[in-house]
Amino acid sequence: MRKRIFIILTFAAVSLCAAAQSSGFKQLDKWLDIWKETQQTFFGYPVNEQSALHGFYEWYVASGMDVININNAGDPMVDNPANWSSQAFEREVIEFFEPLYGFPKHKAWGIVTHSGTDGNNHGIYFGVKYLYNKTGKMPIVYVSDEAHYSNMRICDLQNLDIRLIKSDEMGRMIPEELEKAIDPNRPILMIYAMGSTFKGAIDDQDALNAVLKKFPKTAVFRHVDAALFGGYLPFTKHKKMVSQQHMHYDAIAISGHKFFGIDSPCGLFLCSREVYDNQNNFEVTYLNGNMRMINCSRDAVQPLKFWWLIHTVGYDKWAEQAEQMMECTAYLKQQLDMIGWPCWVNKYSNTVFFKRPSPEIVSKYNLAQGYDERFGGELAHIVVMQHVTKDKIDKFIAELKK
Ligand SMILES: *Cc1c(COP(=O)(O)O)cnc(C)c1O
Repeated sequence: MRKRIFIILTFAAVSLCAAAQSSGFKQLDKWLDIWKETQQTFFGYPVNEQSALHGFYEWYVASGMDVININNAGDPMVDNPANWSSQAFEREVIEFFEPLYGFPKHKAWGIVTHSGTDGNNHGIYFGVKYLYNKTGKMPIVYVSDEAHYSNMRICDLQNLDIRLIKSDEMGRMIPEELEKAIDPNRPILMIYAMGSTFKGAIDDQDALNAVLKKFPKTAVFRHVDAALFGGYLPFTKHKKMVSQQHMHYDAIAISGHKFFGIDSPCGLFLCSREVYDNQNNFEVTYLNGNMRMINCSRDAVQPLKFWWLIHTVGYDKWAEQAEQMMECTAYLKQQLDMIGWPCWVNKYSNTVFFKRPSPEIVSKYNLAQGYDERFGGELAHIVVMQHVTKDKIDKFIAELKK
């Protein structure tokens, strides 16, 4: 009987997909048609438009998961994760990424977050509490003026003192400017941008750490905002750049909907066990636990998707995709050079910025826009994600030439 129901459900699911299908709502169908077309030329924003979750959704509906409410409130890294959650899978996701971000085995704590911003919020909050618990003083936050705005917003939200450090023309924090800005009497909460939003610059952690070394008596916490680049770098030969053991950072945030191609916002947050152990206690009896994370209810479906992708896409394919992205980035740069279009790209970056084309092209390709006198004023950028392939780049270049 169960088997028959399963077959019927599977058949229903398959036929639903095959129909490519009206929702029964004109507004919804029209919106989707437009979006599917737009998606082909969605070049300006760092999301992977080749989500590999079709099988997941088939299973989700066929299994009856769609009528079950699950919630990951609580700590996924404790010994007995709640059964009404997907925390056991969330924990496996964190354990899969622990070595990829260069943490020694069982030395990381982490969660699947709601977004890169949520990961930054945890990184900054954990940093403040860690430093305060160690020193009894509130830290000052140092972040480059080209870092993602979520960091500034979070500092505002958490009511923190922030020093915006000037970056060089390619978007990297200037070590001398950091040195001038440091107040050695207050703990230092560093935020390293790994990629800056518009130019895709990576702060030079070695050079900046050398500056911090000049203040040996001042406590330091390092949070890496690696929302985009933290997705693909672990799968490249530059993996050292995101390795905790090499870079000595304390916490890192990565987005799940960017490189990994989860179809709606989520992310990863990892920090060292030492950081975790130096947080404020919030014993919550009815959740059987010490609630370190900021949110109570947390999404339980996103960790399942992450887990599914680890088992269906996995390391090797992610490594291939990372290589393809790096190749296509170099290809885009080369093609722009060939037609004499002014363009720039940072090392390790998949973001090419260039002289802004006509408004028609900007609109068709959803190019994000920037402005910098040092590069002649009006700029735009393309983020070379998995769906920005060579043939699409060729079409784009042909349109630019016209
Ligand atoms: C995208 C991005 C963010 C914001 O992440 P969300 O997942 O969109 O919240 C933060 N920092 C950097 C460097 C980013 O690329």
